Amino acid sequence: MGIRFFSDKNRPVHMGSYPLERLARQNRMPDLSQVSPMRALSYHRSDRPESIVNAMGEFQAMLDAIRDGFVNPVASEIPADPVDRANHLKAFGYFNDASMMGCGPLLPDAMLAEPRRNPDIDRLAHALRTRQTKTLASGIDVIMADLKESMEAEPKPIDSHRHALVFLYEFNRDPDPAEPGAEWIAEAQDHRACLLATENAVVIANYIRLLGFDARAHSAMSSEVDLGKLAVAAGLASLEDGEVVVPWLGKRFGLTAVTTEMEFAHDLPLCPMAEQPWFRTQGPAWWLGTGFAKNAMNRDPYAKRRYVDGAHPFENLKRVDNPTTYIDEENVARVPKRADMFARAQFGDMGKNLQDAAKGGYYVRKAAPSFAQRRALGAFVLLQDGDSAKVEGPTDADRNAANIKAATYFLGVDAVGLSRCPEWSWYSHDATGEEINPPHDQAISMIIDQGYETMEGASGDDWISVAQSMRAYLRFSLLGGVIAQQIRNLGYKAKAHTVMDGEVLQPPLLLLSGMGEVSRIGEVILNPYLGPRLKSGVVTTDMPMTHDKPIDFGLQTFCENCNKCARECPSGAITAGPKLMFNGYEIWKSDSQKCATYRVTTPGGAMCGRCMKTCPWNLEGIFKERPFRWAAMNIPQAAPALARLDDAVGNGGLNDTKKWWWDIELEADGAYRPTQHPLNRRDLQKDLDLKYEDQTLAVYPAYLAPHPWPYPFAMDREAGIAAYEAMLTADEYKARKAAGDM
Ligand code: SF4
Repeated sequence: MGIRFFSDKNRPVHMGSYPLERLARQNRMPDLSQVSPMRALSYHRSDRPESIVNAMGEFQAMLDAIRDGFVNPVASEIPADPVDRANHLKAFGYFNDASMMGCGPLLPDAMLAEPRRNPDIDRLAHALRTRQTKTLASGIDVIMADLKESMEAEPKPIDSHRHALVFLYEFNRDPDPAEPGAEWIAEAQDHRACLLATENAVVIANYIRLLGFDARAHSAMSSEVDLGKLAVAAGLASLEDGEVVVPWLGKRFGLTAVTTEMEFAHDLPLCPMAEQPWFRTQGPAWWLGTGFAKNAMNRDPYAKRRYVDGAHPFENLKRVDNPTTYIDEENVARVPKRADMFARAQFGDMGKNLQDAAKGGYYVRKAAPSFAQRRALGAFVLLQDGDSAKVEGPTDADRNAANIKAATYFLGVDAVGLSRCPEWSWYSHDATGEEINPPHDQAISMIIDQGYETMEGASGDDWISVAQSMRAYLRFSLLGGVIAQQIRNLGYKAKAHTVMDGEVLQPPLLLLSGMGEVSRIGEVILNPYLGPRLKSGVVTTDMPMTHDKPIDFGLQTFCENCNKCARECPSGAITAGPKLMFNGYEIWKSDSQKCATYRVTTPGGAMCGRCMKTCPWNLEGIFKERPFRWAAMNIPQAAPALARLDDAVGNGGLNDTKKWWWDIELEADGAYRPTQHPLNRRDLQKDLDLKYEDQTLAVYPAYLAPHPWPYPFAMDREAGIAAYEAMLTADEYKARKAAGDM
């Protein structure tokens, strides 16, 4: 990721990773009529069927189709201060990974004479009507009805919109045609930036509408406004000889915007580049990044790295033939999809209270940011699988692997690994109860970082927690979906297994593909560079590809000497004891029932990821942390001291500077208002001495799993507790297996 010497822990999230506050600004609005008209894009490269741009088209069209929609008729109770609002919206945009955010006026000069409508929306609507879409996601009828209405709706005027929130996404290095994996990603920068920026704008437009204000997202493909003019008016870019130019980036970026009637404060326009003092855009502060995340040495993570290798030095990790935890492959017990704890909650297996709390995904809707993400997540379900092109696919496994990895990293996935996809990694039955006959034998495992900065401001189980998860799930649905489509375009079968509709268990695939090791948290696979602060997704396929190997970075020793996640878990679901065999896997088995119950019902927040927040491997990525990581990976004896040191310096505590979200909760009339419940703003519990012998944990192995059908199946906790007590260590298990006693 390049070098960062300085922490930005004292920098509020709304200020972003670039030092925009150092730029010289002016009170005079530049003459927007002088800005060159924004260029149109096309997502069709019929002359280059291998281009990833072809695979992005339907996803861009889907986002453009939902750029407008329902406005909550009940106004929410949010801060009235225009500056608070601007800061909040910018921080949300940065949370979603915008490179730069700006707020400005929507001036008449910025309106397009002819609004743009992505022509692919009509093609997509036709495809969805005729395509056999096999999806098991719940609520798919509602999603389809919403999309139909959105795709057929005539755009309303936006006369009431006076304000514009502008999203800027920078380009990284152009791929070198000679580098491995460059075949699919040539000349795709504009399309990538547009797609990512549209995801962000669509989510935030939906968020503003949920709060009761009209708002619409605008992209290079579908818009009523000129995005370059908005960027100048919002103080993100300066007008240079008719061109829109951004400090540090020049012309290498893409834009989207949200226009709205919600009032918020505006940024001042930038002074022309010739009037920007050199020491503010360059000079030692920029070279070293004093107090902000970006600097001259890390701005582009791929400046000195090949796309195929990713932004982190994964190539330095020790590779091993087998995962560092035992998997009894011949005896892994496949379970039905119905065994998932959230499914069990919804079917009432865990009682009426939990069923009511889980009904209709209330735990997602109760927080406005996550409810805003939910619509796009639902829409992408319709694109995660489909027919393959009738062409001869590329057969070179090395070349396919390089192209998959380079394209995945180019798009913005944080880590990717390739492996076989054995039968035992598939659920036994799908969500309808139908038996699954694994259709693909190859897996592409991807990891999305949940984001350090917002995690710093969070307790892990407060009102942003669910949106942290959903943001990562949405990103995988988009980017994993594009990779699956790309593979189908090249003639192979492929399906993206998303949080909404997936048929494989992801943890074992992450292990096989070298994405991490088993951690004490339980089903969470921990990556050496992202810690446990991640969500995963998998694309399965029949495309031949060279596989990666599992990794060993010393985590088993570390977790054996650290139980911080267990101590900090608010539901007491994480074991303080040893790894045990569960369904054929050696893991620190957590009590998923306790975990799911807490996440669904906690009144002081929305969901929980406190284990990820407090783990010593949840690192900022700055230079001074390197000795910790090196010692943790290379000196097993140092693990106890490192775990204690992490606690002593207060890592995993609250940083209020980074708290940008509002603690508002959905009420019965549909409005979001400040929550009446005490907040889960907890700090570390350093004095708690958690003992394994004091814990009562339950597990539900295959012999206690529910039937596969979508009907209730009461959970027997006493049997679950007995099942926990009956679990064996891997050594005991192997000994009994060798003795023929299993
Ligand atoms: Fe392992 Fe400690 Fe992180 Fe838990 S908090 S996953 S025990 S390193």
